[in-house]
Amino acid sequence: MSVWDDLVGQDRVVEQLTAAAQAARAAVAAGRGAAPGPGGNASLMTHAWLFTGPPGAGQSTAARAFAAALQCTSPDVELGGVPGCGFCDGCHTVLSGSHADVKFVRSDGLSIGVGDMRDLVLRASSYPTGGRWSVILVDAAHRLTEAAANALLKGVEEPSPRTVWLLCAPSVQDVLPTIRSRCRLLVLRTPAAEAVADMLVRRDGVEPETARLAALAGQGDVERSRRLAVDEQSRARRLDVLRIPLEVADIGGCLAAAQRLVDTAKADAEALAETQDAKETDDLRAAYGAAEGSRAPRGMAGAVKELEKRQKSRATRTRRETLGVALLDLLGFYRDVLAVQLGSTGALANEDQRPALAKVAAAGSPENTLRRIEAVLACREALDRNVDPLLAVEAMTVALRAG
Ligand SMILES: [Zn+2]
Repeated sequence: MSVWDDLVGQDRVVEQLTAAAQAARAAVAAGRGAAPGPGGNASLMTHAWLFTGPPGAGQSTAARAFAAALQCTSPDVELGGVPGCGFCDGCHTVLSGSHADVKFVRSDGLSIGVGDMRDLVLRASSYPTGGRWSVILVDAAHRLTEAAANALLKGVEEPSPRTVWLLCAPSVQDVLPTIRSRCRLLVLRTPAAEAVADMLVRRDGVEPETARLAALAGQGDVERSRRLAVDEQSRARRLDVLRIPLEVADIGGCLAAAQRLVDTAKADAEALAETQDAKETDDLRAAYGAAEGSRAPRGMAGAVKELEKRQKSRATRTRRETLGVALLDLLGFYRDVLAVQLGSTGALANEDQRPALAKVAAAGSPENTLRRIEAVLACREALDRNVDPLLAVEAMTVALRAG
């Protein structure tokens, strides 16, 4: 076992990070800090890292494992062992999110405000309590507000010797050029389906055939594969989406399918809001010391308004993400249809859908299929441009129609 166990098919990245963690260890032993700037000797420790790669490849998993390796306290390491044992107190507290010198900035909720980022930058400049490294992991660095990104830039520009910034984003283009030019870049690759299936069997105890199908259907997204393997609702959702190519025979079917997709996405956003919004508002009131029914303390009204604004944008994002997953499933389906039409013999993303794929493949030509793939991609672009979701999805399902 080691801190890298949850990372799938990223041997090269693990090698690079292990070398850096060893260099970091040597630097601490010699009383030195990290070498600033991205360039120079690849085996040296550096103070800012940017983890990129296709969705679900494991950017934040890699960053978290690296943070653990930096804080590993295993006595074996002193004897020349590799940092990141996964057992010791250092590794364990980082992985469970409770290490005093590792701060996580998570993307599960709202975009990170400038105030939070300034606090972080300030905190980051203090010496690590454990005497090793002060690590700040920013998941989804592309979701920072512009002001927050500028505050982050300040931290990355003027690093303290023992501060390490770990930023995660889909691609380098998603991060301010001024920030990325100061980071060492790590690019994760799409993991092979076999590697993902192995991990589902080994780590999650999934039955091998279920793991194989889920790994293929996840199309390289490890977390999505895991959900498909263990979560009934995710499986049902996918099957629901994959019915669409057979339902779009007439305009009525197209419009109904579009409505269903959009309604599902809306329900997801509402379910998330139900579990999170009220608690966040309560927490905020508590932070201001507002008692039930008493007069609101100064500044609270503005903070509540700001919170509500961010909650609203999170709901929009959740809706878009659910639709995004559905579009990826559809895209995978039509790519498989094309593969069948072209006589490919390789494994398909939707191995469990062979009969439906054969039916759609037989009813059209490769040109039809390419046109449909373009319709799905066009829908994705429209959603990125904030086109009304129902309009965008209807335009797609109508374009998916036969003929
Ligand atoms: Zn350890």
